[in-house]
Amino acid sequence: MALQLTNRSKVVSNKEQSVSEKLYLPGIIKGMSITLSHLFKRRATVKYPDEQRPRAEVYRGQHVLKRDDNGAERCTACGLCAVACPAEAITMESAERKKGEENLYREEKYAKTYEINMLRCIFCGLCEEACPKEAIFLTDRIVDTEFERDDFVYGKDKLVEKTDKRIDVSKRQTLEVAAFKKLPGLKHNTMWDGKKQIKDKH
Ligand code: SF4
Ligand code: SF4
Repeated sequence: MALQLTNRSKVVSNKEQSVSEKLYLPGIIKGMSITLSHLFKRRATVKYPDEQRPRAEVYRGQHVLKRDDNGAERCTACGLCAVACPAEAITMESAERKKGEENLYREEKYAKTYEINMLRCIFCGLCEEACPKEAIFLTDRIVDTEFERDDFVYGKDKLVEKTDKRIDVSKRQTLEVAAFKKLPGLKHNTMWDGKKQIKDKH
């Protein structure tokens, strides 16, 4: 006696096919009717990049390294964003600000190089949350498509905000967060403050 493992077997019909079935007519008509019905439905796709769907104001897209009101780079190369990044997408090299460069860099230390590998980034926003200098923000911009992997490693040329093309991040920079980052007494707010560090060393 044959052993039956499951009851999912299907009996295949050996019925003789009609002439129309032999010509695949029912199948073709059914397929065409489905295709035609889609002509009158709203398109599910857009012709990106010519057409773009609206994105939320707090969309987490391409990063920006912000400048302060005077145009100086805010980033002090503290590395907190790199430490917070779960994808290990951020690398940087710090340098000391020289005399006369005060208009270029806000702090005494700045990022000589700063890179984000956009292929690694998962756009979680943790770098933004970790930054004590309000220097890095995610924006509603989409990272461009590229053909080479190396082109996805964004350096300061692509990340630092252009002085003549400021990027509004006020929607992400909520008043509550800004106020929290200024609260006195919190280690988070003081440990990377240049003046405090110098004072502590002496
Ligand atoms: S958004 Fe997240 S994954 Fe991307 S660089 Fe920032 S911390 Fe890393
Ligand atoms: S946490 Fe902010 S200040 Fe520190 S290195 Fe990152 S972007 Fe620069």
